[in-house]
Amino acid sequence: MSQVIEQLKQYANKIVDTGLVVGAGGNLSMRDGNIMYLSPSGFDLKEIEDHQWVRVHIETGEVLDDLKPSSEILMHLECFRKRPDITAVLHAHPSYSVGVSSTGQTIPPLFPDYPAMVKSVAYLEYMIPTTHVLADAVAEVIEENDVVVMRNHGVLTVGKTMKEAFFFMQLVEESAKVFTISRTVGNPRILTDEEVEDLRNLSSEKYRQKLLKDAK
Ligand SMILES: [Zn+2]
Repeated sequence: MSQVIEQLKQYANKIVDTGLVVGAGGNLSMRDGNIMYLSPSGFDLKEIEDHQWVRVHIETGEVLDDLKPSSEILMHLECFRKRPDITAVLHAHPSYSVGVSSTGQTIPPLFPDYPAMVKSVAYLEYMIPTTHVLADAVAEVIEENDVVVMRNHGVLTVGKTMKEAFFFMQLVEESAKVFTISRTVGNPRILTDEEVEDLRNLSSEKYRQKLLKDAK
């Protein structure tokens, strides 16, 4: 089994086990040279067999296998085209992030790891999933952001590795969860711009990498 398939399988399981998607929701892909391996349409992510990951030519968009790829194929392709530095794209529908996004609010920095690790987040208004419109909107912001929150829909993350994309997804969802809890209890104190700046300076790449290494 190739390393790419092995990683896709591992993280497809993790995404479901950590509750980031339910049923056949969510999709993930990895780059291998000019080829993108994408989850097939309509499958429970835990039930995809090794040969069922659909190969797609990144430049032409040609589907190289018989199985139907995820209907979010356009979004995944745009990420790989716009970001030569990444190898993994993850899209999920995590409850707290979707909930917070539906109110039109952004997910604020309430604890250090989030702003230290995630440099910037793009927020998109609601657009019909699987369309060119959504894929184009993602293409417009993905060069500057590793995380895209789609209102009333879900979250997309990209990473140099799938581990990184998954960690970004977890951090965003954890932040949305903490925000929801804090709003239930009272009025949260949000980390100030200065505090965020300090964190990023002191954190530097070392801190970031350490967190990433420790991430399960
Ligand atoms: Zn979706």
